[in-house]
Amino acid sequence: MNAIARSRTARAAMRHVLGAALGASALCGPSADATDEVSLTPAKATALEWIEHNRSGIVDVNQAIWGYAELGLQETRSARTLMDWLESNDFTIEEGVAGMPTAFVANYGSGQPIIGLLAEYDALPDLSQVAEPHREPRIVDGAGHGCGHSLYGAGSTAAAIAIRQAMAAHDLPGTVRLYGTPAEETVIGKIYMVKAGFFDDVDAVLRWHPMDVTEAMYTTSLAMASVKFDFAGVSAHAAAAPERGRSALDAVELMNVGANYLREHVKDDARIHYVITEGGGQPNVVPARAQVWYYIRAYVHADVAAYYGRLLDIARGAAMMTRTDVSVHIDSDTHELIPNRPLAELVDANLRLIGGPDFSSTEETFARMLQEGFARESNIEFDRPVLEEIRPLPQEPARTSASTDVGDLSWKVPTGGLTVASYPAGIPIHSWPVVAASGAPMGHRAMLVAAKTLAASGIDLLTRPATLEAARADLRARTAGAEFRSLLPAEQTAPESIR
Ligand SMILES: [Zn+2]
Repeated sequence: MNAIARSRTARAAMRHVLGAALGASALCGPSADATDEVSLTPAKATALEWIEHNRSGIVDVNQAIWGYAELGLQETRSARTLMDWLESNDFTIEEGVAGMPTAFVANYGSGQPIIGLLAEYDALPDLSQVAEPHREPRIVDGAGHGCGHSLYGAGSTAAAIAIRQAMAAHDLPGTVRLYGTPAEETVIGKIYMVKAGFFDDVDAVLRWHPMDVTEAMYTTSLAMASVKFDFAGVSAHAAAAPERGRSALDAVELMNVGANYLREHVKDDARIHYVITEGGGQPNVVPARAQVWYYIRAYVHADVAAYYGRLLDIARGAAMMTRTDVSVHIDSDTHELIPNRPLAELVDANLRLIGGPDFSSTEETFARMLQEGFARESNIEFDRPVLEEIRPLPQEPARTSASTDVGDLSWKVPTGGLTVASYPAGIPIHSWPVVAASGAPMGHRAMLVAAKTLAASGIDLLTRPATLEAARADLRARTAGAEFRSLLPAEQTAPESIR
């Protein structure tokens, strides 16, 4: 609790200086030492200049990954694009890590501290879309970057290379590391990289995500397990010999009835949802195989584990009722995100130093047209085309109902980051306007804000041991007494595909 108490003092000091020196280039900042200021150092200036100077190259990398639009664990060309870029900037690459061909780790420098940046680059199915403000698939039935991960991958990698330039020019200590993390959408990549120990030696991790708002992240997320239940029965003619059949589909249906009754006895934050992925071929054959796929979510992982235990009982009960057999496979399991106050304050201060995205009138018109196109399909009304302001850092961590595979690593390493407004205000993520914006100038502008903020924050972490120590102390305080217990079997390795 000491760390949190200390960081509150630092926050109060920052507010004081912000009020006194609004518009000045030096902002009072985060670390354990409240007298430290987050400012534009010569090393940061080098990094920011590199990003400005290489603007078109960074945009080209985004456009390449945006165009490939590869699904999780198939991001061969996207990962190669980032690895080639890093390699040509003197990073040493370890590729195909943690049993995933498209996962990699890239290092520059040596020794501690090691500052990690996350890159994601997986796309979403059925969201192919041109970079124009009307609905039009680029490839029929193709995938698209509906979560903006092309921007995420290119922006984080640009930040890592910019930090590398500053390290060389200013003789900074330590290591900058870029984690190439595949298959975020199915909550796989980082889970297995954490499991394989790739985050054991890193001192802090930074990341960003495209969103419709700009803010330093100070947030939790829902813990989540992804579990498949396979029932095996006996096929028979459904009319001529039903008494000899054992329906696996009946078992799935009975299991779902049980799960729906379970809802009456879970906490408010619980989210339990399923799809039937296999349920037989045609009505006159008793289905011998059936599968139901569940996501189980809650604010704390211990609750997910408890609900998972209840679902196991329900599945066994369904199997008994139908005299079928059930087997269970957990694809993935992520803990809730542990927020980090000192890192949130550091990123917030650097974000204010850089400034949020200042969209051009052309970009605002583009955003407005995307909103109008989406409104015609959804009847949702929109107010402003874009949200340019930097939102204030909340006093308490924000609660979101999403899950992320960043969750597990945030238990091991202090983790911070930001979101930058990259698409029109009020548009839901995982939609076609997000794909369009991610391949267009408004997305590019946001990506550069993110790259600069990450680079500046990373340089501070390389050079401010007190901030790093405060971040570690904050993590220790928040996880004290809590147990990290993954539901994944110890010997389980990453899947070869997402289905
Ligand atoms: Zn995403």
